[in-house]
Amino acid sequence: MSERDAGKIALEEHFYLPSFETYGADGSALDGASKAHNYDQKYFATVQQRLADVNSWIEDMDRGGIERMVLSLTQPGIQGIPDRKIAVDTAKRMNDELAQMVTANPKRFSGFAAVPLQDVRAAGDELERTVSQLGFKGVLINGYTNIGDANTAQYLDEAPVWDFWARVEALGVPVYLHPRPPLPNQRRVYEGYPVLVDSPWGFAAETAIHTLRLMLSGLFDRFPRLQIILGHMGEGLPFLLPRVESRLRHMTAAVRGKQQKPVTSYLRENFYVTTAGHFRSQPLLDTLLEIGAERLLFSVDYPYETVQEQVEWFDSLAISETDRRRIARENALELLRLSSAATKSPATMKSPVTTQSSTAAK
Ligand code: ZN
Repeated sequence: MSERDAGKIALEEHFYLPSFETYGADGSALDGASKAHNYDQKYFATVQQRLADVNSWIEDMDRGGIERMVLSLTQPGIQGIPDRKIAVDTAKRMNDELAQMVTANPKRFSGFAAVPLQDVRAAGDELERTVSQLGFKGVLINGYTNIGDANTAQYLDEAPVWDFWARVEALGVPVYLHPRPPLPNQRRVYEGYPVLVDSPWGFAAETAIHTLRLMLSGLFDRFPRLQIILGHMGEGLPFLLPRVESRLRHMTAAVRGKQQKPVTSYLRENFYVTTAGHFRSQPLLDTLLEIGAERLLFSVDYPYETVQEQVEWFDSLAISETDRRRIARENALELLRLSSAATKSPATMKSPVTTQSSTAAK
């Protein structure tokens, strides 16, 4: 058995295709390049090059002991297209191109679908098509969906989307809720500090609130088998949610939300949390204590983050080897229903380039 056959599985790994060729309501390209001025040039050039060429990832994957990456279109992707028809057509085209990338390298890549929630029925149809015909493992949704203009949002707890959730539950595939920045007309608090709107802070704030909307809407009481994946160590929620729960106790029934259970139980029953873009031991240990190792998943957030930084941290984390195996591989095999012929060889899971140290928490 080769090294890669028993390697890690990573779930928040992004590509961009020049053929995406579409624009947001404000006229900016939806490829992330509009933020280029905020980034160090060398970093940004590397990210852009890697986003567009998944084959160049293999070397990094091999070095980090990563067997498989689940690919998804980088944010805001289809969610940022204000025109319904363009969104529907572009999602289909992107998913077909993703299927080609996966087919070209089926042992190293899998796919998460992009869905046009501008048209809820079409989104459900596209998810069914990609799962049943293209073999995709689930769907990645970049937060709210623009419909009509850049300041219009349809959040995932809102009434039209529940038909989509019914189809997700019936298919039994996970939904990765990935961040995007808040609506342009809701950024007053960021004025003077525009860099905070995106990944340094706004991504987590936006996604955490979106997740609370899902919980308080009663969605998980109506569809209890739904499984949502949150990146970036749960966008702060493993730490923050207990306080939400304790404060909700003192609110009136009319405003407390429609959920039937304490909110932390949804985190333990309907959510998985990945390490994407977050490599610090203290928050991981907190998350482990809140939701258990069976609900944690290794991920990188490639190519925005490096495999090396993520893997060096993960391989030396002071957790049990049983938990390390679950987080790196076994939970993903089960959730994504991947074949698991190689699960019994944990010794080869660690990165060949890092030395193993099991004591120091980083
Ligand atoms: Zn990401």
